[in-house]
Amino acid sequence: MQLFLDLDGVLVDFVGGCCRLFGKSLNPYPPGLFYIYEAWEMAPSDFYGELARAGSQFWADLDWLPDGPEVLARVNRHVQDLGHEPVRFLSSPTLDPASWAGKAKWVERHLQDGISRLTLTHDKAELSGPGKVLIDDQPKNVAGWIARHPMHAYGLCLPRPWNPHHSRASRALAILDEYLAILGRLAVRNRGE
Ligand SMILES: [Mg+2]
Repeated sequence: MQLFLDLDGVLVDFVGGCCRLFGKSLNPYPPGLFYIYEAWEMAPSDFYGELARAGSQFWADLDWLPDGPEVLARVNRHVQDLGHEPVRFLSSPTLDPASWAGKAKWVERHLQDGISRLTLTHDKAELSGPGKVLIDDQPKNVAGWIARHPMHAYGLCLPRPWNPHHSRASRALAILDEYLAILGRLAVRNRGE
């Protein structure tokens, strides 16, 4: 199996960075409202225009989510224990080239050799395949990933305040553990076949 981890909303605090940039708050976060510009009743073009003006530094300076380091640690431990390939990082930049550069800078700063395992794409499902696992916070990404290879590709939509699993967001790490345990059993079973 090969695991792919999303950045924004899984490891990286995109919401916090937006609040800082726009001088607005999202506390508590409106449950299940994925797009911040909807919460702030902004036109998407205004929202993304402001991000573009902030340049690559906006992306490079984003913080970890509070449980982001622990999400990564648990996934790393899982792949090591099972002898899988190292985890890969999969993120969708905006259409602004500075977003591509800024995300790469963030990974270089925080994930040691992670930059060689980073893929930036607007179609994550292109990397889906048998035994490939996506952990993401956006339901449509996970659905698209699985739809490419039904029964053979796997995915977890990690509960977060902005996705449909928001009521379980405080249990995200426990749910990740449960999911990794299931994946572990699947990997062992598949090897035995
Ligand atoms: Mg995300």
